[in-house]
Amino acid sequence: PSGCSTCFCHWVGGGPTSPEGSDVLMTEVEGGYVLQAMTDKGAALLEGSSLADGADRFADAEAARKAAWASLEKAPSLAEAPAKVAARFEDVEFWQQETDRCLSCGACTYFCPTCYCFNITDEGDGLNGREGRRLRSWDNCMSPLFTREASGHNPRTAKALRMRNRVSHKFATYPENWGAFSCNGCGRCVSNCPVHLDIRAIVLDAINK
Ligand code: SF4
Ligand code: SF4
Repeated sequence: PSGCSTCFCHWVGGGPTSPEGSDVLMTEVEGGYVLQAMTDKGAALLEGSSLADGADRFADAEAARKAAWASLEKAPSLAEAPAKVAARFEDVEFWQQETDRCLSCGACTYFCPTCYCFNITDEGDGLNGREGRRLRSWDNCMSPLFTREASGHNPRTAKALRMRNRVSHKFATYPENWGAFSCNGCGRCVSNCPVHLDIRAIVLDAINK
């Protein structure tokens, strides 16, 4: 077993076998998977299942987890990331360079498990009728229209400003307010970007350039 090249969970405090937040840890071994309870809830779930007892494969599962960790390259320290990314805020040239080939397609944000931006629209006869629907739909901050106001003013017309918002939120303002990155290092934004923009490179550039 090996880690995925686009994944960097171990940069942000996780790992390919981290049980944090899990009731059951699932590890791939030859011939199937070993499921191990991490909580009472997980144990109750497994006890009630018709799965075969996998206790004799626990050693294989442990070996697979060790191999996954061993396959990872050493993670760079992101301890300075919040301060360094925040310090880049006014450096628009930096964000322009980092965003040069971005297509503003929004794939990075739609695939991201920690992105939660949405839009609200009202449907129905607002003037005469008393019935209508207010809808919440998924939206994303990499879209040029996301911040367009009713007046027509748009504070983030340039893609560099949108990328600045996305990266700064995940690696500067969120950790500043909540003590953790708003990124679990899953790498979905990296593997699904049609022009291969890599958020890891942007954060490292903010730290080192
Ligand atoms: S690597 Fe981070 S920013 Fe990219 S999709 Fe995963 S959680 Fe989102
Ligand atoms: S997926 Fe890539 S091209 Fe699309 S908005 Fe995100 S960074 Fe830009």
